[in-house]
Amino acid sequence: MSHTDGAESRVSRRASQERKKRNLISKIVVIGLGLLVCVAAAMFIPSDSAQFNTQEVQAAVQQLYLNEQQDYLNPDVTREMIEDTVEKVDYLGIKETEAVYQKAQEARQKFLAIEALSNVYATETAVIEGESVQADLKLKEDLTLASIQEISTRHQLTGEDELTTQINRLYTEATQVLEEVATVEELLGTLPNDLSGEVNLTELLPQLIEVETELERLEGQPSIETFQSDFEDKVTEVADVIKEQAETTEFDEALLETMFKCNTLSKNLSGSILDSRKLVSLTFDDGPNPLYTQQVLDILAKYEVKATFFLLGQEVERHPDLAKKIVEEGHMVANHSFGHPNLAEISDEEVLKEINQTQDVIFDATGVTPTMYRMPYGAGGARVVNLFPELESVIWNVDSEDWISDDAYLIYENVAANMLPHTVILMHDKHQSTVDSLELIIPDLLDQGYEFVDPLEVGMEFLYYE
Ligand SMILES: [Zn+2]
Repeated sequence: MSHTDGAESRVSRRASQERKKRNLISKIVVIGLGLLVCVAAAMFIPSDSAQFNTQEVQAAVQQLYLNEQQDYLNPDVTREMIEDTVEKVDYLGIKETEAVYQKAQEARQKFLAIEALSNVYATETAVIEGESVQADLKLKEDLTLASIQEISTRHQLTGEDELTTQINRLYTEATQVLEEVATVEELLGTLPNDLSGEVNLTELLPQLIEVETELERLEGQPSIETFQSDFEDKVTEVADVIKEQAETTEFDEALLETMFKCNTLSKNLSGSILDSRKLVSLTFDDGPNPLYTQQVLDILAKYEVKATFFLLGQEVERHPDLAKKIVEEGHMVANHSFGHPNLAEISDEEVLKEINQTQDVIFDATGVTPTMYRMPYGAGGARVVNLFPELESVIWNVDSEDWISDDAYLIYENVAANMLPHTVILMHDKHQSTVDSLELIIPDLLDQGYEFVDPLEVGMEFLYYE
């Protein structure tokens, strides 16, 4: 090999190296450009564009629905699923005339309409889920006629299918309820403000009945609770006027009958001289008693009448199951203090403790918080009554004297000789003679046409004995 050869060969080797370098650079440039194109493409095309076609879009739309007919929505569907599917349909350029496009749009509209129903109805869970629609819904308390009209216009659906009909119905009904609430408010406004002058009862009573019926029908709907208490106040005023008139006027039968057709008024007049019904309340004090209470319950059940049991806290603690049984059999439980002290002889603090502790004990045993109490020996007067503004003090106007006599027939005679048209009878479920006397007393009172009611319905004039 010559020197020149060596030189030539070095030159050619250098040239070949240059070529390789250029090739490499151009390869890198090509790869780089390729990558750039890919990145650019990825930026403009939805990431999964390559993975779906028309069939897959159809499948995605079907997923939004519960059934083949594609009317009810799949309960598991989310807002994201819907938006995603609508986007795919748009991307594929599926036209408005095509069914798959229609169904994706419909799913979206239905979903939004159902979602908005949760701003209309007061409920923790979805108003419509799959095929199930909640019934007996109440409107949200802050809903107004203007806002429901705005929401329902926005979500009005066109279509013949069942779900569309149900959604539209729920919006229509919400609007109707609020219109009815507005009507009740108007009706309330037409009742006379001032009842001090001449009151035309023939005109007023049907008005009261109409308002009452509407209030009962719309119970639980927005503002109704407020209207209800306004109405009750008004009826109490009317009742006072009626009672006053009753002292000088004799009402005709038809008018009297109308008075008692209005439940709120009837409650106010219950037990008054206008109430021609024969009312009796059987009350049993000092229980529950393991020997006698169950026997009393059995006789009450036999004659299908209800009674009220004024329970002692200490006895309820001993026999909670009996207290519970009384409630389970549909009778009233009331408070008769904890340990039966003479409330007139103990301090306010002690009186409060006697009654409040018993409220708790009765609630724990029965799940019921009493609304009535009776002072042991009927003693305590206005001082005790004033301590419990939230509770009703209940006395009696016929004493069976079952605590004196152990002769069932004598107890029956005591009662029979003293019955009034409106009577609260005092008894004690702690004597066998009391139990036995019931077999005489109850059938006799039923024969005479007495209704067995709770003591408040009898409407005693007095809350306590002086
Ligand atoms: Zn007692």
